[in-house]
Amino acid sequence: MPTVLITGGAGFIGSNFVRHLLATDPAVQIVNFDALTYAGNLANLRDLDGHPRHTFVRGDVTSRDDVRGAMQRGVTDVIHFAAESHVDRSIQDSGPFVRTNVLGTQVLLDAAREFRVNKYVQVSTDEVYGSLGATGLFTEETPLHPNSPYSASKAGADQLVQAYQHTFGLNAVITRCSNNYGPYQFPEKLIPLFVTNLLADQQVPVYGDGQQVRDWIHVLDHCRGVEAAWRRGTPGEVYNFGGRCEMANLDLTLLLLKLLGKPETLIKYVADRLGHDRRYAIDCTKAERELGWVPQVKFDKGLAETIDWYRANADWVATIKNKDYLSYYEKQYGKR
Ligand code: NAD
Repeated sequence: MPTVLITGGAGFIGSNFVRHLLATDPAVQIVNFDALTYAGNLANLRDLDGHPRHTFVRGDVTSRDDVRGAMQRGVTDVIHFAAESHVDRSIQDSGPFVRTNVLGTQVLLDAAREFRVNKYVQVSTDEVYGSLGATGLFTEETPLHPNSPYSASKAGADQLVQAYQHTFGLNAVITRCSNNYGPYQFPEKLIPLFVTNLLADQQVPVYGDGQQVRDWIHVLDHCRGVEAAWRRGTPGEVYNFGGRCEMANLDLTLLLLKLLGKPETLIKYVADRLGHDRRYAIDCTKAERELGWVPQVKFDKGLAETIDWYRANADWVATIKNKDYLSYYEKQYGKR
């Protein structure tokens, strides 16, 4: 019976993953380890209160004592989601990104070795590959070419994982996924930011010309991919996941305006993000072939359900859009 340490399980993808795994595997025990930074939120786990196979432990992945304390709860496997995850914040201050994403991964890898875990999964991002031109796709063979402090810190972490696998024989796999959307996503990322602003008739900030292309995937498809990599991934391998759903940011913005019945005057063009990657697109045929994984959620349906979720969870949004959030928002996009 596996006992899985899930780091970052109070964040967006981690909380969806915890819920997914508890619902689909009646044998699994979860130790959910999270520092509860600005992005971590116990409200994301409220429906799991009192769940007999879920234990929440507050701790920091950069602290050896915190991590060892969590591992001593009989952990057999590690799935590492915890990270500083927002590119714009990494441009404002890269310090926490290097600490949590690089040092935190090293601390966790040492613990995984010490406690002889069966499998270690590093949840990474397609952003480590850098930016594409108008054509082409990222494969697992694409050289790493991170452009932002965020993606550089994730690439550093990935390389540590590969070094621990090579040097110490750690049974580790790396997953690299494209842009996720879905419920419980912190409203600094494009889809929840725009949906929640539009629901309140507020403007939405579009960077530059809005022609940056992203490949969107529903968070549950990502969760199924991480689970497949954990269960069936070959040690030392990397698996890409994407939704085969490329869209320019401006087209997505126009679609959201249409779905929410709002006017285009709510678009506010703002100066482009520094070093903004132009296009990401994922080739996920390896995961399909070797893991038997396919993205299942159609974008139209997933997006409509996601909008409904933010509409129905106005309290969740209101508690997040607090004083700290607003000061970050104004620093990033100017006064509303
Ligand atoms: P998130 O920001 O919503 O959640 C991150 C979680 O990590 C939070 O709960 C936070 O409290 C926790 N955390 C941060 N620093 C910590 C520390 N030092 N110790 C312990 N916990 C800490 O991020 P997310 O969008 O859910 O992303 C999860 C993972 O997936 C990240 O590793 C990210 O790089 C990766 N990823 C995200 C996307 C995406 O589109 N969001 C795509 C591909 C990969």
